Amino acid sequence: MSIANLEPLVLEQLQTLTLDPTRPLIISDADEVLLQFVAGLETYLEGREMWLDLQSFALSGNIKHKQSNEVVPTEDVPALLSDFFAASTGDLKAVAGAADALAALHKRGAQIIVLTNVPHEQRHVRQECLARQGLDYPVIANQGLKGPAVAYLAQQCKGPFFFLDDIPHNIASVAKAHASTKCIHFIADKRLARLIDPAKDSQIQSSSWPQTHAYIEKELTRLGH
Ligand SMILES: [Mg+2]
Repeated sequence: MSIANLEPLVLEQLQTLTLDPTRPLIISDADEVLLQFVAGLETYLEGREMWLDLQSFALSGNIKHKQSNEVVPTEDVPALLSDFFAASTGDLKAVAGAADALAALHKRGAQIIVLTNVPHEQRHVRQECLARQGLDYPVIANQGLKGPAVAYLAQQCKGPFFFLDDIPHNIASVAKAHASTKCIHFIADKRLARLIDPAKDSQIQSSSWPQTHAYIEKELTRLGH
């Protein structure tokens, strides 16, 4: 059972949520969905004389030194990303239209949870950064694939459920853990979106919050909400 795979630190956060079982639930990733992760990473790399050569949907192998154009070795990428999160989590800018779309959906009755693989130490900085930009929703710092956390949340409510993420592995994990969740493959950065096929378990792929908002509204209406 998928929920058995939940990390204790993630379960602990999920257990603090107050959810209304009768209301729809939207579970959204943050990086590249609510927040401009790639744009923020590019700014950070610029300050370290590096750049992101967007040749494929991956960070490893695409981060290069400016002077030499040499690729930063794969084994050095996790430490670089960890430093980026420590330095820049509070500075990432919201994706255009995200706050308005979620505010409208919230007003219509949907509950919203941000499920993000931010390091646990940066959870509160992320929450403040989102709240400051009109995205004041509970933030869960997840670890690993997202299926187990979504399966847990799906047990607390009747649905409908919507899940948004830019990473196909997370969408596959959620589709497997809770098949009736509607998955939206959302990639805010259009350069990045062009590098990858729509996740096969997603209902739609989008780089636009107005389009995503319209899709969720339509589904809510269709499902009697
Ligand atoms: Mg993401």
